[in-house]
Amino acid sequence: MPAASALDLDTIRQDFPILDQTVDGKPLVYLDSAASSQKPRQVIEAISRYYLRDHANVHRGVHELARRATEAYENSRERVARWVNAADAHEIVWTRGTSEALNLVAFSIGQARVRKGDEIVISEMEHHSNLVPWQLLAARTGARLRYVGLTDDGHIDLDHLEGLLGSRTKVVSFPHVSNALGTINPVTDIGTLIRDRSNAVYILDGAQAAPHLPVDVQAIGCDFYAFSGHKMCGPTGMGVLWGRKELLDEMPPYQGGGEMIERVSRQSSTWAEVPHKFEAGTPNIAGAVGMAAAVDYLDSVGLDAIHEHEMALTRTAMRLLANVDGLRILGPASAEERAGVIPFVIDGTSAQDVATILDAQGIAVRAGHHCAQLVVDRYGLSATTRASFYLYNSNEEVHRLAEGIGTARELLLS
Ligand code: PMP
Repeated sequence: MPAASALDLDTIRQDFPILDQTVDGKPLVYLDSAASSQKPRQVIEAISRYYLRDHANVHRGVHELARRATEAYENSRERVARWVNAADAHEIVWTRGTSEALNLVAFSIGQARVRKGDEIVISEMEHHSNLVPWQLLAARTGARLRYVGLTDDGHIDLDHLEGLLGSRTKVVSFPHVSNALGTINPVTDIGTLIRDRSNAVYILDGAQAAPHLPVDVQAIGCDFYAFSGHKMCGPTGMGVLWGRKELLDEMPPYQGGGEMIERVSRQSSTWAEVPHKFEAGTPNIAGAVGMAAAVDYLDSVGLDAIHEHEMALTRTAMRLLANVDGLRILGPASAEERAGVIPFVIDGTSAQDVATILDAQGIAVRAGHHCAQLVVDRYGLSATTRASFYLYNSNEEVHRLAEGIGTARELLLS
């Protein structure tokens, strides 16, 4: 079977020992990377090396290990800053993941900027991580939460967005790539529209984009960008909030504790400089080390090559699945407008049953609303089955998926 693209898949797959196993006697086909990616040896070894040689608490000690741990932690911040083209490493706040990054920004920008009667604009495409924090803020402040609708082919309705923007809009927050549809949103154009029509702060949920596409936060023109380590070959429990320095400076802290203060007195405190103001307590130092290793790994393969590879896999999947009777793929019709995420339904079957039958064939996919309930509601569904690709997936695996879906359909409809 021909390779999907120019990536050296044999070498890449050797970097991911977890992929080399059987499930019920069948070779594992891992198509659930949108939920969490697997980790290459290089990341696992960097974290292990850190714990075997260098671990101590950061920032506090004068001894050698404290110095090494601090250096590793702060060097990783600089590495990630360069990776997303942040103007300054101080614009990178470490968080537990995208969810915490979005909660942080909703809480703190909310406190700084959002008042009763103001408007927060999100879309019907949101993962709950970019929806519930804004509901909480709206409930706290009396601001109004407004939703931009979606087109039938899975795009944010830009005319609707244009109509919603105005002087009351204080925040606009969208996904860069949808986890439930696969759509790559035109985030730079959306940024221009927002700036033309409002003074709103523009936030992007990059959980499904940073692992798969080159991201340049300055070129996009957004104000905040959130992503998770575990979806991009890095560790769980580690994420990033990038924010413009002047906005981070303006925002109050999100949590209190050690390391985030400048001076403490009985009734009040003053805050450490950004980003430490937002990093209360002992941080996930090994997680930061793993993030830098993940970024090094992705760069060594090349984000453009990864994106091309996933697009080729997506094209194959869409071509093969077009032959399955009663199967509908949600999201844009063209592979060029989507990331390697294929959410689908088959008439007369349940999404969960399809996923279970695929599992019995060694194929790991996910079924449900994918933490994006408004998306399945919008398309009149309660759940979809979702296959998602990453740099280590092969064309052959996409064929196995299509065969597996054919088998599931036969079993469920016979
Ligand atoms: N946003 C999107 C688009 C996602 O796909 C996810 C993870 N499924 C999240 C936010 C939340 O990421 P995490 O669970 O790593 O915080």
